[in-house]
Amino acid sequence: MPQRPIAALLLDMDGVLFHGVTPLPGAAAFLERIADLPHLFVTNNPIRPPAEVAARLHAMGLGRPPASNILTSAEATARWLARERPGFRYFAVGAEGLHLALAEQGEPDAECADFVVVGEGPGLDFESLTTGINLILKRGARLVVTNPDNSVDDSRNGEHWVLPGGGALVAPFAVACDRRPVVIGKPEPALYEMAVERLGVPAAGCVMVGDRPDTDILGAKRVGMRAALVRTGRFLPGADWPAGLPRPDWDVDDLAGLLVAWGGLLAG
Ligand SMILES: [Mg+2]
Repeated sequence: MPQRPIAALLLDMDGVLFHGVTPLPGAAAFLERIADLPHLFVTNNPIRPPAEVAARLHAMGLGRPPASNILTSAEATARWLARERPGFRYFAVGAEGLHLALAEQGEPDAECADFVVVGEGPGLDFESLTTGINLILKRGARLVVTNPDNSVDDSRNGEHWVLPGGGALVAPFAVACDRRPVVIGKPEPALYEMAVERLGVPAAGCVMVGDRPDTDILGAKRVGMRAALVRTGRFLPGADWPAGLPRPDWDVDDLAGLLVAWGGLLAG
């Protein structure tokens, strides 16, 4: 069956375009090749606001994307909450990117919040955990997390480092309250649906490019989107496909290999 042309792209960033602050080989050339195609950078990482993410891409020599081309799980969380309850009140535990995104759509309120929102990144301590638990158990607040990753990769002084992800940080709230959190980031559909809405292209015309089978690829397949795996992040060349996860439409070692595999499918 002939492959449908690619009308738009969603690009994961860490493990696809860079590691930490180091661009991956071929990333700049890939972005130049797809520059005229509608595309968004989508990330489960809620720590930095979109403008700061754009500045980091630029500093790494990866173009100069407008902030509106970047969709973080923090923005997706804020928009999901606003749809669920316009003018929502919240108690948030997380980094600057989460607090800024939520403040655009709702009101912080540690006394009677509608939602306890946990974001990946610094912010969790005994007091905030205690406040969140009591809002959930005594005030009926719902528990929401920006992204489900249990751990994420980072680098410190050029060395690989593992940080707790959103899944690990929401766990103490979930355990203490015996509640399952609402999850916004990949592989849940919210981030993909908002990306497709922003691009104005149907999911079937989009391709998600990512490095994680359990988030990037699984989430794309759930919303009827094609998916391409590059083995430059968590999942390395030669690794066996994890049991129970859908296969991507393209499975390549790196971005240069992906451009070859796409051939004439890429418009422009
Ligand atoms: Mg990634």
